[in-house]
Amino acid sequence: MSYRINPKSKRGWIELITGCMFAGKTEEFIRRLQRYKYAKQDVLVFKPKIDDRYSKNDVQSHSGMSIKSIPVASSEELREYVFAQEHVDIIGVDEVQFMDTGIVDILSEIADQGIIVIANGLDKDYRNNPFRNVDKLLVQAEYVDKLTSICHSCGGNANRTQRIVDGVPAKLNEPLVVISANEKYEARCRHCYIEPS
Ligand SMILES: [Zn+2]
Repeated sequence: MSYRINPKSKRGWIELITGCMFAGKTEEFIRRLQRYKYAKQDVLVFKPKIDDRYSKNDVQSHSGMSIKSIPVASSEELREYVFAQEHVDIIGVDEVQFMDTGIVDILSEIADQGIIVIANGLDKDYRNNPFRNVDKLLVQAEYVDKLTSICHSCGGNANRTQRIVDGVPAKLNEPLVVISANEKYEARCRHCYIEPS
């Protein structure tokens, strides 16, 4: 593909917002995108179809901010949606760690076409291992903002996410991607984080 969707502009890059849970990532994601909407830029916001915790068609923060989004089942569906548009200035991708791994190359292809890509996602899973897609986007993105949270145990600076099931830290063998109501997450610092065993 050789055309540019945004021919007048030399822009087009990837911004990554990442960190643990309760760091304000979604607020920052929405804030950044909303600025472009105020300026009447063409903004498309995507999220993986897996995530319907709050609203089917909105990206919502814990604090109640929201922005309209398009749920997609695959990275290819996102790609086709973007390239079917006559004009796009900015795309946002929320919960990028829940997209399939094709998303990394596709976001790069979209940025090559002069579109600003703003991706949001967790850098580490609850086992403290790098999360898929975010691991590669940390390397590929022009701009990375890694936000921290406050440890729910001690009030220190936190960069890890502890999954709590029935009041105790989740075990190692539990599935990586689960979104349900009978579990909760806490931000933890390196000293209070308990390694799943
Ligand atoms: Zn702590």
